[in-house]
Amino acid sequence: MSVSTQIQYLKGIGPAKAKLFERLEIQTVEDLLHYYPRTYQDRRPGAAPNEYNAESLVVFKGRVLRTQTVPARSVLIFKAFLEDEKGNQIECTWFKKRMYGHFRFDPFGQLKKDFHLNNEVWVIGRREDKNNFFGNKIIVEEQYPAADVLTGLHAGRLTPIYALTEGLTNKQFRLFVHEALQTESLAREPEILPSALLAKRKLLSAPQALQSIHFPNSLPELESARTRLAYEEFLLLATAWGIKRTQTKVLAKDYSYEIKKNLLTPFREQLGFEFTNSQRKVINEIFKDLCSARPMNRLLQGDVGSGKTVVALCAMLLAVENGYQAALMAPTEILAEQHYLTFKHMLKGLPVNVAVLTSSTKAAARKKILKELADGTLHILVGTHAVIQEDVKFHNLRLAVIDEQHRFGVKQRSRLKEKTAKLDLLTMTATPIPRTLALAFYGDLDVSTLSELPPGRQPIQTETATSKLAYDRVREQVKQGRQAYIVFPLIEESEKISAKAVTAEFEKLKTVFPEFRLAVLHGQMSQAEKERVMADFAEHKTDILVATPVIEVGIDVKNATVMVIENAERFGLASLHQLRGRVGRGEHESYCILVPQHAGSVAKERVDIICSTRDGFKIGERDMQLRGPGEILGTRQSGELEFKAGDIFKDREVLRWAIEDRDEILSHDPGLTKPEHALFRRKLQELYQQNWHLIDLS
Ligand code: ADP
Ligand code: MG
Repeated sequence: MSVSTQIQYLKGIGPAKAKLFERLEIQTVEDLLHYYPRTYQDRRPGAAPNEYNAESLVVFKGRVLRTQTVPARSVLIFKAFLEDEKGNQIECTWFKKRMYGHFRFDPFGQLKKDFHLNNEVWVIGRREDKNNFFGNKIIVEEQYPAADVLTGLHAGRLTPIYALTEGLTNKQFRLFVHEALQTESLAREPEILPSALLAKRKLLSAPQALQSIHFPNSLPELESARTRLAYEEFLLLATAWGIKRTQTKVLAKDYSYEIKKNLLTPFREQLGFEFTNSQRKVINEIFKDLCSARPMNRLLQGDVGSGKTVVALCAMLLAVENGYQAALMAPTEILAEQHYLTFKHMLKGLPVNVAVLTSSTKAAARKKILKELADGTLHILVGTHAVIQEDVKFHNLRLAVIDEQHRFGVKQRSRLKEKTAKLDLLTMTATPIPRTLALAFYGDLDVSTLSELPPGRQPIQTETATSKLAYDRVREQVKQGRQAYIVFPLIEESEKISAKAVTAEFEKLKTVFPEFRLAVLHGQMSQAEKERVMADFAEHKTDILVATPVIEVGIDVKNATVMVIENAERFGLASLHQLRGRVGRGEHESYCILVPQHAGSVAKERVDIICSTRDGFKIGERDMQLRGPGEILGTRQSGELEFKAGDIFKDREVLRWAIEDRDEILSHDPGLTKPEHALFRRKLQELYQQNWHLIDLS
């Protein structure tokens, strides 16, 4: 018996059962070993609460006190009363549907045998009344005589639960897996990972990982097994794509950069803060890309407020130092203007010319900008997708930065790609979503992550409240010299109606806060108006900004400490997170108050999530779980993102290892020809070569 043996030759299977396994795409012993549990149940007596022993789950080992068959109209019921060593008692119930006619067998025959008076048994089931924690009545899912020698597989341990097909039970399946794990060839299961990597990442060996993924002896052991298997999956796929990338990446830049620092140094000196370590690291990565002979295509991800803008500006300054132009594209006019103001402020006194171009730039101003772009007088252009219109011609654009990339439509992205095929490209996002992960994996894209926030960030208290309480908080804060946002949702996706609605609310709010200076901001205002409102708020000429979600992204006013979100139930998680990120940016404690339209109508789950974490990655993950991956990904991925052991969210650290190690391996051994990579290479060929026509490892 070896791992390649057909499944039907495994003890107890045979041709008929093998058909059932085929439905699960299990043909060989190896397939069976790689059919990992869907989840686990913690059936260890007295185990501390963990994700595998849900409250309603009861695992009980005891002695049979008495049993009873209860006739009922449509079902047959069997009951057993058990008592454990400590004298705890439990009432167990089994149901069987009553068939027409008579049962030829007693459906409870086996049970009656196993549940003989005084016999020791294990039962695993669910409390009948989930809410009654002390309830001692359970509906039984599985039961075992305690004397069963194989109980060690089913009860009294972390027990695997498999996703099965009709005709197969978990009980049987565990026995088969157990049998497969005994085959002596398992010990010779080839180790495809180079031993250097196993050591570096402290990974379990292949046979050990397989043993532990099915029958872990502890939660940490399970984690190690999962990590090892996830890592292997990630590394294989990442390597396949890495090879693909080097094979297709034939473009070479016909320009080069040199780090001169004649702008970067004075810029840094007048910045007023030190870069975080994370920013330093990322800036280095970007500079390395820029100085290399190939065009950069890098994704910069970092949570709201992690300081992506200044990183982008450093990259742009390197371009300018070298006599090139750079452009930054933002998804909304407001954000473009905000970036423009930030840049002007940060570049004060430096010989760098910056302009902003959006679709509402007036004709005369636009003409001037286009002229200066063409003759090279303008160094940095900030804008919306207006920047990629046909008639916008640069003198020597070398670097393009896209902020909040996923907000661009697909069409705009491909347009940009055409225009920037030979440019260095940096894209930035605050909400790492599957798409960006997918791009990191599959696309021609490298990833940098800002993993820390700048120091001194204040906690943000997030809560739900009525409008009245929220306004009390606004009043209290504004009295102390702070500023506040009050945001209303977009209505039916129509900017016009939303503008009208928010204007009406604005008039009402003026009577609520007669003592303060209020301003309104929405997408229908003219460019000049918006700019003025934003500038006034930034300069604290107004106290309260009443707005539509146009302010969702990028607005940066340190003195603002309250974010009130009206009709909060209408916002998605990602939006709530972005909006909250507008406060807590300065030295003052800040508040984010969600105001549901009807008390309690905000989906409780979303509120719980947003209140309990500030981690954008976690929020993105929950967002995807709540909304479903299909919706967020746009189109369903063709199965490529589905891993058996790995989970791109849960195992994002492992994913990072895999990508790092992939890069390392390919930099030393691009063709995987070294002997230590032979088995890994063979596995890659097996997996990807024929199916995908992707990589050439011949
Ligand atoms: P985001 O990553 O959300 O785009 P921003 O670039 O808008 O974040 O940065 C948020 C704020 O933090 C800005 O006011 C920025 O000037 C400030 N900031 C960025 N880096 C640092 C740093 N290293 N120390 C202190 N403040 C910083
Ligand atoms: Mg930003």
